[in-house]
Amino acid sequence: MTLDERALRASWADALPEPFWLQQPGRPAAHPALDGDTRADLVVVGGGFTGLWTALMAKERDPRRDVLLIDAGRIAGAATGRNGGFCSASLTHGESNGRERWPDEYEQLHRMGLENLDEIAATVQRYGIDCGFERTGELAVATRPHELAEYDSSADDFLDAAALRAEVDSPTYLGGSWDRSGTAMIDPARLAWGLAAAAESAGVRIVEHTPVDRLRRGRGSVDVVTASGTITAQRVALATNAFTPLLAGLRFHTVPVWDYVLMTEPLSAEQLDAIGWSNRQGISDSGNQFHYYRLTEDNQILWGGYDAIYHFGRRIKPAYEHRDETYQALATNFFTTFPQLEGLRFSHRWGGVIDTCTRFCAFFGTSHRGRVAYATGYTGLGVGASRFGANVMLDLLAGTPTERTRLEMVRRRPLPFPPEPFAWIGITITTWALKRADRTGRRNLWLRVLDRLGLGFDS
Ligand SMILES: Cc1cc2nc3c(=O)[nH]c(=O)nc-3n(C[C@H](O)[C@H](O)[C@H](O)COP(=O)(O)OP(=O)(O)OC[C@H]3O[C@@H](n4cnc5c(N)ncnc54)[C@H](O)[C@@H]3O)c2cc1C
Repeated sequence: MTLDERALRASWADALPEPFWLQQPGRPAAHPALDGDTRADLVVVGGGFTGLWTALMAKERDPRRDVLLIDAGRIAGAATGRNGGFCSASLTHGESNGRERWPDEYEQLHRMGLENLDEIAATVQRYGIDCGFERTGELAVATRPHELAEYDSSADDFLDAAALRAEVDSPTYLGGSWDRSGTAMIDPARLAWGLAAAAESAGVRIVEHTPVDRLRRGRGSVDVVTASGTITAQRVALATNAFTPLLAGLRFHTVPVWDYVLMTEPLSAEQLDAIGWSNRQGISDSGNQFHYYRLTEDNQILWGGYDAIYHFGRRIKPAYEHRDETYQALATNFFTTFPQLEGLRFSHRWGGVIDTCTRFCAFFGTSHRGRVAYATGYTGLGVGASRFGANVMLDLLAGTPTERTRLEMVRRRPLPFPPEPFAWIGITITTWALKRADRTGRRNLWLRVLDRLGLGFDS
C-alpha cells in the first residue's frame, strides 16, 4: 500500500455526504403529509422495500382493498435508498445461518428464496421498472488464509486464486466461490420509486413526512395515530425496520446498527481494464468485518461495510449518518484491494441503519387480535427478503395459513437483546472479539459461547 494517510483522506474528503442512489435524477416529488382523519382497509407504516411490496401486493391480491402507505420521512429515505443493491435470494442471511437454525426446512427456504427473487425479476419486468436489474450473481472471496479453509475447493462454484483473479483482479484474493444466480444487482432507489409508482397506479394512497406516533385499539379496527390526523384501519402492516417499533413487545428484539458506504467516480475504460470485472458480479469478502462491493450501471464502484456501529441506548440520529474513522478505513481497504486504481476518488459517502436481531434474519408476527402484522430484523440483508416479509404480513393479516406462515422460521421469534447497559456492553465485547477473530482465525471463548447459544454471527 503506497498511499499515506493524508492521500487516503483526500480520496474521500470531498465526496458528497449524501446517498448516491437518492441523488439521481428521477426522484419523485414528495407526497403531501396526512391532513386530517381518514379511513383505510389496510394501512402500511413505512415506505421502504417492506412497506412498498406490502402495499403493491395487497392491491395485486385484492384490487378493491383501500390501501394507504404512510412514512415518517421520504419513500426510500432510510435503508432502502442507501444500501448496496445486492438483491439476494437468501431469506436466512446466508446458507450457514439458515442451515444451522432450520436444518429440516432449509431446502424449502432456499427454494422459496429463489422463487422470491424470480418474482422480483418478473415484477420489475411487468411494471417496466428501470432499476438496472442484472442477475450477475455474487463472488465470495477469501483474503486471509484461514478464510480460505471455509471454502470447499471441490465444489463446482469454487474458484482458485488464478480463476478468481481472471474474473476480478485483486492481489488480495486467495480463492472464493461464484454463486451465479442467487443474487441480482439493482439500483435500490429506482426499484423503490418504481414500486411506489406501480402501487399508486394500482390505487394505493401515499403520504410522506407523517410519523405515526402510536396505534390505538378501536372498535373492530385499529387507530393509526399521527400528529396530523388519525387513520381508522381494518388492518395495519408495520414495516418500520430499525426505527423504534410501534409495538412495545418488540422494543428489545432489534438494535439499530450503522453501516457505511463510499462510492467512487466512474472508472475509465483503462481503469476498468486494469481490474477486469467484465461479468459485473457483486462481491463480498469473508471476514466477520466484511466489505461488499459492486459496479453501478456507469461503472462506479460502491464499496461498503466493514464497520458495524452501535450507539448506546438504541439511538438513531442524523449525526450518526457519517463517520470519518470508518470512511478512512473503507478507503484504506479499497486501495489495498485495488492498488491499480490509485488516484481514483470517491464521489459520495453515506451511512444507513440496519435492524439487527439475534438470529440475523427477519422475523414476523401479529398483535391486536391479528389486525396488525410486522416484519423486521433483516440484519442488513433485506433488499430481496423484504418482498418475502411483505407476503408473510399479508398472509398473516388474511388469517388463512399458507406455506409461508407454516414455516418454523416464520412462526418463531428470536431472543430479545438485553436492556442497557447490557446490550451495549455485549455488542461492544462481541465487536471486539469478531475483529480479533478476523486477525487470528480463531473464535475466542465469548464467541464460542454465543455460537452455542445460537447468537454468534459468522458471515
Ligand atoms: C448501508 C446499507 C447497506 C445495505 N446493503 C444491503 C444489500 O446490499 N443487500 C441487502 O439485501 N440489504 C442491504 N441492506 C439492508 C436493506 O437496505 C434493508 O434490509 C431493507 O432496505 C429494509 O427495508 P425496510 O422497508 O424494511 O426498511 P427501511 O428502508 O428502513 O424503511 C423503513 C421506513 O419506515 C419509516 N418509519 C419508521 N418508523 C415510522 C413511524 N413511526 N411512522 C412512519 N414511518 C416510519 C421510515 O421513515 C422508513 O422510511 C443495507 C442497509 C444499509 C443501511
